[in-house]
Amino acid sequence: MRNVYLDYSATTPVKEEVLKAMLPYFSEKFGNPSSLYDLGLESKAAVAHAREQVAALINAEPREVFFTAGGTESDNWALFGVCDKLKAKGNHIITTKIEHHAILHSCAFLEKQGFEVTYVGIDKDGRVDLKELEDAITDKTILISVMMVNNEIGTVQPIKEIAKIAKAHKVLFHTDAVQALGNVPIDVKDMGIDLMSMSSHKIYGPKGEGALYIRKGVKISNYLHGGAQESGHRAGTENLTGIVGFGKAAELAGIHFDEHVAHCSSLRNYFVDRVLKEIPDTELNGTMDGRHPGNANITFKFIEGESILLLLNQYGISVSTGSACSSTSLEPSHVLVALGVPVEMIHGTVRFTIGDFTTKEDIDYVVENLKKVVEKLRALSPIHAQKGW
Ligand SMILES: *Cc1c(COP(=O)(O)O)cnc(C)c1O
Repeated sequence: MRNVYLDYSATTPVKEEVLKAMLPYFSEKFGNPSSLYDLGLESKAAVAHAREQVAALINAEPREVFFTAGGTESDNWALFGVCDKLKAKGNHIITTKIEHHAILHSCAFLEKQGFEVTYVGIDKDGRVDLKELEDAITDKTILISVMMVNNEIGTVQPIKEIAKIAKAHKVLFHTDAVQALGNVPIDVKDMGIDLMSMSSHKIYGPKGEGALYIRKGVKISNYLHGGAQESGHRAGTENLTGIVGFGKAAELAGIHFDEHVAHCSSLRNYFVDRVLKEIPDTELNGTMDGRHPGNANITFKFIEGESILLLLNQYGISVSTGSACSSTSLEPSHVLVALGVPVEMIHGTVRFTIGDFTTKEDIDYVVENLKKVVEKLRALSPIHAQKGW
Protein backbone atom coordinates (compact mmCIF):
# COMPACT_ATOMS: atom_id res chain seq x y z
CA MET A 1 0.00 0.00 0.00
CA ARG A 2 1.10 3.52 -0.75
CA ASN A 3 1.54 6.08 2.03
CA VAL A 4 0.43 9.56 1.08
CA TYR A 5 0.82 12.41 3.52
CA LEU A 6 -1.48 15.35 2.71
CA ASP A 7 -1.34 17.17 6.03
CA TYR A 8 1.62 19.52 5.56
CA SER A 9 -0.19 22.33 7.39
CA ALA A 10 -0.24 20.15 10.53
CA THR A 11 3.48 19.50 10.35
CA THR A 12 6.22 18.65 7.86
CA PRO A 13 9.01 16.09 7.82
CA VAL A 14 12.48 17.42 8.66
CA LYS A 15 14.47 17.74 5.43
CA GLU A 16 17.63 15.69 5.13
CA GLU A 17 19.85 18.76 4.84
CA VAL A 18 18.23 20.18 7.97
CA LEU A 19 18.81 17.00 9.94
CA LYS A 20 22.41 16.89 8.72
CA ALA A 21 22.99 20.44 9.93
CA MET A 22 21.51 19.59 13.34
CA LEU A 23 23.29 16.31 14.08
CA PRO A 24 26.71 17.57 15.26
CA TYR A 25 25.01 19.83 17.82
CA PHE A 26 23.52 16.86 19.67
CA SER A 27 26.90 15.35 20.46
CA GLU A 28 30.35 16.70 19.66
CA LYS A 29 29.24 20.37 19.43
CA PHE A 30 27.02 20.25 22.50
CA GLY A 31 28.33 23.34 24.32
CA ASN A 32 26.05 25.78 26.14
CA PRO A 33 25.91 28.96 24.03
CA SER A 34 26.38 30.99 27.24
CA SER A 35 29.68 29.30 28.17
CA LEU A 36 32.85 31.28 27.57
CA TYR A 37 35.26 28.57 26.36
CA ASP A 38 35.57 27.52 22.71
CA LEU A 39 32.92 24.77 22.88
CA GLY A 40 30.36 27.34 24.10
CA LEU A 41 31.48 30.01 21.67
CA GLU A 42 31.03 27.58 18.80
CA SER A 43 27.40 27.01 19.86
CA LYS A 44 26.89 30.74 20.29
CA ALA A 45 28.12 31.28 16.73
CA ALA A 46 25.74 28.58 15.47
CA VAL A 47 22.79 30.36 17.13
CA ALA A 48 23.91 33.68 15.63
CA HIS A 49 24.14 32.08 12.18
CA ALA A 50 20.64 30.61 12.49
CA ARG A 51 19.33 34.02 13.56
CA GLU A 52 20.78 35.49 10.35
CA GLN A 53 19.17 32.73 8.28
CA VAL A 54 15.71 33.32 9.78
CA ALA A 55 16.08 37.13 9.55
CA ALA A 56 17.06 36.89 5.87
CA LEU A 57 13.86 34.99 5.00
CA ILE A 58 11.65 37.83 6.29
CA ASN A 59 13.92 40.84 5.57
CA ALA A 60 14.51 41.55 9.27
CA GLU A 61 17.71 42.36 11.12
CA PRO A 62 19.08 39.39 13.07
CA ARG A 63 18.72 41.27 16.39
CA GLU A 64 14.98 41.57 15.73
CA VAL A 65 14.57 37.76 15.76
CA PHE A 66 14.03 36.02 19.13
CA PHE A 67 13.98 32.23 19.27
CA THR A 68 11.11 30.55 21.13
CA ALA A 69 9.75 27.03 21.58
CA GLY A 70 7.41 27.39 18.60
CA GLY A 71 4.46 29.25 17.12
CA THR A 72 2.35 28.86 20.24
CA GLU A 73 4.92 30.45 22.54
CA SER A 74 5.50 33.26 20.03
CA ASP A 75 1.76 34.01 19.88
CA ASN A 76 1.44 33.90 23.69
CA TRP A 77 4.51 36.09 24.15
CA ALA A 78 3.33 38.69 21.62
CA LEU A 79 -0.11 39.05 23.20
CA PHE A 80 0.86 38.86 26.87
CA GLY A 81 4.03 40.88 26.29
CA VAL A 82 2.18 43.78 24.67
CA CYS A 83 -0.75 43.67 27.10
CA ASP A 84 1.54 43.75 30.12
CA LYS A 85 3.74 46.50 28.72
CA LEU A 86 0.91 48.77 27.59
CA LYS A 87 -1.77 48.08 30.22
CA ALA A 88 -1.53 51.62 31.54
CA LYS A 89 -2.32 52.94 28.05
CA GLY A 90 -5.33 50.73 27.32
CA ASN A 91 -6.99 47.37 27.75
CA HIS A 92 -8.43 46.69 24.30
CA ILE A 93 -7.13 44.36 21.61
CA ILE A 94 -8.53 43.51 18.21
CA THR A 95 -8.17 40.14 16.51
CA THR A 96 -10.26 37.97 14.17
CA LYS A 97 -12.70 35.11 14.48
CA ILE A 98 -10.46 32.82 12.42
CA GLU A 99 -7.20 32.89 14.38
CA HIS A 100 -5.37 29.78 15.54
CA HIS A 101 -6.22 28.67 19.07
CA ALA A 102 -2.79 29.89 20.22
CA ILE A 103 -4.25 33.39 19.70
CA LEU A 104 -7.92 32.77 20.52
CA HIS A 105 -7.29 30.94 23.79
CA SER A 106 -4.67 33.51 24.82
CA CYS A 107 -7.28 36.21 24.15
CA ALA A 108 -9.84 34.32 26.26
CA PHE A 109 -7.27 34.22 29.08
CA LEU A 110 -6.64 37.97 28.70
CA GLU A 111 -10.39 38.64 28.87
CA LYS A 112 -10.41 36.92 32.26
CA GLN A 113 -7.66 39.34 33.34
CA GLY A 114 -9.85 42.32 32.44
CA PHE A 115 -8.76 42.99 28.85
CA GLU A 116 -11.40 43.56 26.20
CA VAL A 117 -11.15 41.75 22.89
CA THR A 118 -12.96 42.46 19.62
CA TYR A 119 -13.17 39.53 17.20
CA VAL A 120 -13.54 40.83 13.65
CA GLY A 121 -15.36 38.72 11.04
CA ILE A 122 -14.46 37.70 7.48
CA ASP A 123 -16.15 38.02 4.09
CA LYS A 124 -17.26 35.15 1.82
CA ASP A 125 -13.70 34.73 0.53
CA GLY A 126 -12.31 34.44 4.06
CA ARG A 127 -10.75 37.91 4.19
CA VAL A 128 -10.88 40.17 7.20
CA ASP A 129 -13.33 43.03 6.92
CA LEU A 130 -11.02 46.08 6.97
CA LYS A 131 -13.80 48.55 7.71
CA GLU A 132 -15.04 46.51 10.67
CA LEU A 133 -11.44 46.30 11.87
CA GLU A 134 -10.79 50.04 11.64
CA ASP A 135 -14.17 50.88 13.19
CA ALA A 136 -13.33 48.66 16.18
CA ILE A 137 -10.31 50.80 17.15
CA THR A 138 -10.83 52.95 20.26
CA ASP A 139 -8.49 55.13 22.32
CA LYS A 140 -8.00 52.07 24.56
CA THR A 141 -6.78 49.82 21.73
CA ILE A 142 -3.18 48.70 22.21
CA LEU A 143 -2.84 45.81 19.77
CA ILE A 144 -4.22 44.39 16.52
CA SER A 145 -3.41 40.74 15.81
CA VAL A 146 -4.37 39.22 12.44
CA MET A 147 -2.90 36.02 11.03
CA MET A 148 -1.12 36.23 7.67
CA VAL A 149 -2.43 32.95 6.24
CA ASN A 150 -5.27 30.90 7.71
CA ASN A 151 -4.42 27.32 8.63
CA GLU A 152 -7.75 25.80 7.60
CA ILE A 153 -8.84 27.55 4.40
CA GLY A 154 -5.48 29.03 3.39
CA THR A 155 -6.71 32.59 2.89
CA VAL A 156 -3.96 35.20 2.67
CA GLN A 157 -4.93 38.33 4.60
CA PRO A 158 -4.25 41.93 3.40
CA ILE A 159 -1.46 42.37 5.94
CA LYS A 160 0.04 45.55 4.49
CA GLU A 161 -3.33 47.33 4.59
CA ILE A 162 -4.00 46.16 8.15
CA ALA A 163 -0.55 47.32 9.27
CA LYS A 164 -1.27 50.73 7.69
CA ILE A 165 -4.52 51.05 9.62
CA ALA A 166 -2.78 50.07 12.87
CA LYS A 167 0.01 52.57 12.27
CA ALA A 168 -2.41 55.40 11.46
CA HIS A 169 -4.02 54.84 14.86
CA LYS A 170 -0.68 54.32 16.68
CA VAL A 171 -1.61 50.74 17.58
CA LEU A 172 0.89 47.87 17.54
CA PHE A 173 0.36 45.20 14.89
CA HIS A 174 1.11 41.50 15.38
CA THR A 175 0.68 38.76 12.81
CA ASP A 176 0.78 34.98 13.23
CA ALA A 177 2.77 34.04 10.13
CA VAL A 178 3.22 30.35 10.97
CA GLN A 179 1.34 29.16 7.84
CA ALA A 180 2.69 31.99 5.71
CA LEU A 181 6.39 31.44 6.29
CA GLY A 182 7.96 29.85 3.22
CA ASN A 183 4.61 29.86 1.41
CA VAL A 184 3.98 33.54 0.67
CA PRO A 185 6.56 36.34 0.29
CA ILE A 186 7.21 38.05 3.63
CA ASP A 187 9.01 41.35 4.04
CA VAL A 188 8.42 42.65 7.56
CA LYS A 189 9.75 46.12 6.71
CA ASP A 190 7.72 46.60 3.56
CA MET A 191 4.60 45.14 5.19
CA GLY A 192 4.92 47.36 8.29
CA ILE A 193 4.80 44.53 10.82
CA ASP A 194 5.67 45.19 14.49
CA LEU A 195 5.55 41.61 15.80
CA MET A 196 5.42 38.31 13.91
CA SER A 197 5.17 34.66 15.03
CA MET A 198 6.98 31.85 13.21
CA SER A 199 7.34 28.11 13.68
CA SER A 200 10.03 25.72 12.47
CA HIS A 201 8.09 22.47 12.04
CA LYS A 202 5.76 23.91 9.39
CA ILE A 203 8.74 24.65 7.11
CA TYR A 204 10.57 21.28 7.18
CA GLY A 205 12.43 22.09 10.41
CA PRO A 206 12.24 20.36 13.80
CA LYS A 207 9.28 20.63 16.19
CA GLY A 208 9.38 22.70 19.38
CA GLU A 209 11.24 25.61 17.80
CA GLY A 210 10.07 28.97 16.51
CA ALA A 211 10.70 32.67 16.70
CA LEU A 212 9.08 35.99 17.43
CA TYR A 213 10.09 38.95 15.27
CA ILE A 214 10.04 42.13 17.34
CA ARG A 215 10.64 45.26 15.30
CA LYS A 216 13.52 47.38 16.54
CA GLY A 217 12.10 50.03 18.91
CA VAL A 218 9.04 47.99 19.91
CA LYS A 219 9.10 47.21 23.63
CA ILE A 220 7.15 44.30 25.08
CA SER A 221 7.41 42.56 28.46
CA ASN A 222 9.30 39.30 28.76
CA TYR A 223 7.27 36.10 29.00
CA LEU A 224 9.86 33.65 30.31
CA HIS A 225 12.02 34.82 33.23
CA GLY A 226 15.43 33.51 34.18
CA GLY A 227 18.81 33.75 32.48
CA ALA A 228 19.91 36.45 30.05
CA GLN A 229 19.54 34.44 26.83
CA GLU A 230 18.14 36.08 23.68
CA SER A 231 19.56 39.50 24.68
CA GLY A 232 17.80 39.21 28.03
CA HIS A 233 14.36 38.80 26.45
CA ARG A 234 13.71 35.06 26.51
CA ALA A 235 15.21 33.07 29.35
CA GLY A 236 16.30 29.44 29.16
CA THR A 237 19.22 27.59 27.63
CA GLU A 238 18.75 27.72 23.87
CA ASN A 239 17.36 24.69 22.04
CA LEU A 240 20.61 24.55 20.12
CA THR A 241 19.74 21.73 17.71
CA GLY A 242 16.26 23.14 17.17
CA ILE A 243 17.62 26.59 16.41
CA VAL A 244 20.27 25.25 14.01
CA GLY A 245 17.57 23.18 12.25
CA PHE A 246 15.14 26.10 12.05
CA GLY A 247 17.91 28.29 10.60
CA LYS A 248 18.75 25.74 7.92
CA ALA A 249 15.06 25.18 7.12
CA ALA A 250 14.59 28.96 6.76
CA GLU A 251 17.61 29.20 4.44
CA LEU A 252 16.26 26.37 2.26
CA ALA A 253 12.78 27.93 2.24
CA GLY A 254 14.32 31.11 0.84
CA ILE A 255 16.47 29.36 -1.78
CA HIS A 256 13.67 27.09 -3.04
CA PHE A 257 10.75 29.49 -2.55
CA ASP A 258 9.67 29.79 -6.20
CA GLU A 259 9.88 26.09 -7.03
CA HIS A 260 8.14 25.18 -3.75
CA VAL A 261 5.21 27.48 -4.51
CA ALA A 262 5.00 26.34 -8.15
CA HIS A 263 5.17 22.65 -7.19
CA CYS A 264 2.53 22.86 -4.45
CA SER A 265 0.11 25.10 -6.29
CA SER A 266 0.17 23.11 -9.52
CA LEU A 267 -0.51 19.83 -7.68
CA ARG A 268 -3.13 21.51 -5.50
CA ASN A 269 -4.93 22.97 -8.52
CA TYR A 270 -4.83 19.59 -10.27
CA PHE A 271 -6.26 17.94 -7.13
CA VAL A 272 -9.04 20.50 -6.64
CA ASP A 273 -10.03 20.39 -10.33
CA ARG A 274 -10.26 16.60 -10.32
CA VAL A 275 -12.19 16.35 -7.05
CA LEU A 276 -14.74 19.04 -7.94
CA LYS A 277 -15.21 17.55 -11.42
CA GLU A 278 -15.17 13.84 -10.62
CA ILE A 279 -16.94 13.70 -7.25
CA PRO A 280 -20.48 15.13 -7.24
CA ASP A 281 -21.80 17.41 -4.47
CA THR A 282 -18.42 18.81 -3.43
CA GLU A 283 -17.49 22.39 -2.68
CA LEU A 284 -14.21 24.21 -2.19
CA ASN A 285 -14.16 26.51 0.87
CA GLY A 286 -12.34 29.83 0.61
CA THR A 287 -11.13 31.68 -2.45
CA MET A 288 -8.52 30.48 -4.97
CA ASP A 289 -7.38 34.06 -5.31
CA GLY A 290 -4.69 34.66 -2.67
CA ARG A 291 -4.49 31.25 -1.05
CA HIS A 292 -1.79 29.11 0.58
CA PRO A 293 -0.20 27.21 -2.36
CA GLY A 294 -0.76 23.75 -0.84
CA ASN A 295 -4.21 24.18 0.73
CA ALA A 296 -7.43 22.54 -0.42
CA ASN A 297 -10.40 22.61 1.97
CA ILE A 298 -13.31 20.66 0.54
CA THR A 299 -16.84 19.87 1.71
CA PHE A 300 -18.32 16.51 0.73
CA LYS A 301 -22.05 16.93 1.18
CA PHE A 302 -24.22 14.39 3.02
CA ILE A 303 -21.33 12.62 4.81
CA GLU A 304 -18.94 13.11 7.74
CA GLY A 305 -15.40 14.42 7.23
CA GLU A 306 -14.29 12.33 10.17
CA SER A 307 -15.47 9.14 8.43
CA ILE A 308 -13.68 10.14 5.22
CA LEU A 309 -10.50 10.71 7.23
CA LEU A 310 -10.69 7.29 8.89
CA LEU A 311 -11.41 5.41 5.67
CA LEU A 312 -8.64 7.26 3.81
CA ASN A 313 -6.32 6.30 6.66
CA GLN A 314 -7.01 2.65 5.80
CA TYR A 315 -5.54 3.38 2.35
CA GLY A 316 -2.44 4.95 3.92
CA ILE A 317 -3.62 8.50 3.27
CA SER A 318 -3.20 11.18 5.97
CA VAL A 319 -5.52 14.19 5.92
CA SER A 320 -7.32 16.24 8.55
CA THR A 321 -10.69 17.70 9.37
CA GLY A 322 -10.45 21.31 10.51
CA SER A 323 -7.04 21.95 11.96
CA ALA A 324 -4.89 19.26 13.56
CA CYS A 325 -5.25 20.89 16.96
CA SER A 326 -9.05 20.64 17.02
CA SER A 327 -9.41 17.33 15.21
CA THR A 328 -10.43 15.43 18.33
CA SER A 329 -13.17 17.87 19.37
CA LEU A 330 -16.73 17.76 18.09
CA GLU A 331 -17.00 21.55 17.93
CA PRO A 332 -17.53 22.68 14.35
CA SER A 333 -14.52 24.56 12.95
CA HIS A 334 -14.67 28.19 14.10
CA VAL A 335 -13.11 29.23 10.77
CA LEU A 336 -15.83 27.61 8.65
CA VAL A 337 -18.50 28.99 11.00
CA ALA A 338 -17.04 32.49 10.45
CA LEU A 339 -17.02 31.83 6.71
CA GLY A 340 -20.77 31.15 6.89
CA VAL A 341 -20.62 27.46 5.96
CA PRO A 342 -23.72 25.67 7.34
CA VAL A 343 -22.94 23.37 10.29
CA GLU A 344 -24.00 20.17 8.44
CA MET A 345 -21.57 21.03 5.65
CA ILE A 346 -18.78 21.83 8.11
CA HIS A 347 -19.02 18.29 9.40
CA GLY A 348 -18.44 17.02 5.87
CA THR A 349 -15.26 19.02 5.39
CA VAL A 350 -11.72 17.72 4.92
CA ARG A 351 -8.46 19.69 4.71
CA PHE A 352 -5.83 18.39 2.28
CA THR A 353 -2.46 20.15 2.39
CA ILE A 354 0.21 19.46 -0.20
CA GLY A 355 3.94 19.88 0.27
CA ASP A 356 7.39 19.42 -1.25
CA PHE A 357 7.36 15.62 -1.20
CA THR A 358 3.90 15.23 -2.77
CA THR A 359 3.89 13.76 -6.30
CA LYS A 360 1.31 13.63 -9.08
CA GLU A 361 1.07 9.85 -8.52
CA ASP A 362 0.19 10.58 -4.87
CA ILE A 363 -2.62 12.88 -5.96
CA ASP A 364 -3.96 10.34 -8.47
CA TYR A 365 -3.91 7.68 -5.75
CA VAL A 366 -5.78 9.97 -3.33
CA VAL A 367 -8.43 10.97 -5.90
CA GLU A 368 -9.12 7.34 -6.87
CA ASN A 369 -9.50 6.26 -3.24
CA LEU A 370 -11.42 9.37 -2.29
CA LYS A 371 -14.00 8.52 -4.98
CA LYS A 372 -14.42 5.02 -3.54
CA VAL A 373 -14.64 6.26 0.05
CA VAL A 374 -17.14 9.01 -0.69
CA GLU A 375 -19.31 6.67 -2.74
CA LYS A 376 -19.26 4.05 0.01
CA LEU A 377 -20.17 6.55 2.75
CA ARG A 378 -22.92 8.13 0.69
CA ALA A 379 -24.45 4.73 0.01
CA LEU A 380 -24.79 4.39 3.79
CA SER A 381 -25.99 7.95 4.39
CA PRO A 382 -29.72 8.44 4.97
CA ILE A 383 -29.47 12.17 4.24
CA HIS A 384 -27.78 11.46 0.93
CA ALA A 385 -30.66 9.16 -0.03
CA GLN A 386 -33.04 12.09 0.48
CA LYS A 387 -30.60 14.54 -1.16
CA GLY A 388 -31.35 17.01 1.57
CA TRP A 389 -30.51 17.75 5.14
C1 LIG B 1 0.83 25.36 13.80
C2 LIG B 1 0.35 26.75 14.07
C3 LIG B 1 0.63 27.41 15.27
C4 LIG B 1 1.34 26.73 16.41
O1 LIG B 1 2.70 26.54 16.16
P1 LIG B 1 3.49 25.43 17.02
O2 LIG B 1 4.92 25.61 16.61
O3 LIG B 1 2.94 24.10 16.62
O4 LIG B 1 3.28 25.76 18.45
C5 LIG B 1 0.21 28.71 15.42
N1 LIG B 1 -0.46 29.33 14.46
C6 LIG B 1 -0.76 28.75 13.28
C7 LIG B 1 -1.49 29.51 12.23
C8 LIG B 1 -0.37 27.42 13.05
O5 LIG B 1 -0.68 26.84 11.90
